[in-house]
Amino acid sequence: MRGLLHRYADRLPQIGADSKQYAALSLGEGSTPLIPLLNLPQAMGVANINLWVKYEGLNPTASFKDRGMAIAVAAAAADNISCVICASTGNTSASAAAYAARAGMACLVLIPQGKVALGKIAQAVAHNAVIVQIDGNFDDAMRAVRVYSDSGKVAVVNSINPMRLQGQKTAAFEVIETLGSAPDYHALPVGNAGNITAHWIGYSEAASSGTAACHYCQGNCTTCQPIAGGEKRPQMLGYQAAGSAPFVNGNPVANPDTVATAIRIGNPQSYEAAQVVLAESNGWISAVEDSDILQTQRQLAALEGVFCEPASAASLAGVINDVKSGRIPAGARVVCTLTGHGLKEPDLFPLPALASTAVGDLAAVIEQHLNNR
Ligand SMILES: *Cc1c(COP(=O)(O)O)cnc(C)c1O
Repeated sequence: MRGLLHRYADRLPQIGADSKQYAALSLGEGSTPLIPLLNLPQAMGVANINLWVKYEGLNPTASFKDRGMAIAVAAAAADNISCVICASTGNTSASAAAYAARAGMACLVLIPQGKVALGKIAQAVAHNAVIVQIDGNFDDAMRAVRVYSDSGKVAVVNSINPMRLQGQKTAAFEVIETLGSAPDYHALPVGNAGNITAHWIGYSEAASSGTAACHYCQGNCTTCQPIAGGEKRPQMLGYQAAGSAPFVNGNPVANPDTVATAIRIGNPQSYEAAQVVLAESNGWISAVEDSDILQTQRQLAALEGVFCEPASAASLAGVINDVKSGRIPAGARVVCTLTGHGLKEPDLFPLPALASTAVGDLAAVIEQHLNNR
């Protein structure tokens, strides 16, 4: 099995005395498909660009959080820490619980009451996390967890843990490897802005590896080969839900509200880092309406066979808006990260009210459907 510590050991921080020992804690994260869209661009009026989706829902716990968690939990294990803690809108807790279970650690998760998707709760329960439901939102939980960052007793595995961004940067390496170069634009949904920051770290390291500017080798390295085609970096685009858009407002949002619960965050932990990403990459962050997010999620599932959660669809919904307005030019190569799997929130797709068909009538009903094709 190949996880991130197998594939990218020479581009990730050393874990303990021997990273390979900790690679055994992997659940096979990363190596997700980059899928070119075939039908949706035409149907949604953006056939004039080239669109790919990086389907991070296919990670072990069905979100990109696994890339960062694999490294953060391995680093905690190397430090002989026996418990991890996080504040979570759902996916961080699912991922932390799984990787902690694998490493034989305890996991304590703080989740906002009533605003976490069903599938994510099921994962935290299944992996035996201790779940504390708080009478507040993600930002309140984050404030309580931050206190433990330097305690040495427990590892905080939110994206304020630098190992998280190190793991997540590998998605950018994979995009370059698949496309042969970076795209013109890379779009992501933005909550705490850790992932957009991590992608920029990845693209930037790919651009500098093996040179004097390389973060690791400063040009003296024999192991970190340049990634073929990595010289170019994309413009980074972030999309927030309109009811939860501190980057767009320029201020924290006290009571963030959106159907996209994974990005229901009013006080982003990587606010300053993301400003640097936007400035260096000549990118932008804008807002999308919940109705656009949900429509895009449905269209992607119905037209492409790709099922992502609502927050994930914010990247694609935002790109569609920006192509239509001309902000993203015709001919552009655009990658959208789909951060999590649609099965996390099955309650958004209930079985429609259907009359039951008598067994004796089945053949006739099937014939009728076939004739209507
Ligand atoms: C965590 C998460 C995000 C937000 O990522 P940030 O790094 O907090 O910006 C977006 N979508 C999904 C599905 C997530 O789980």
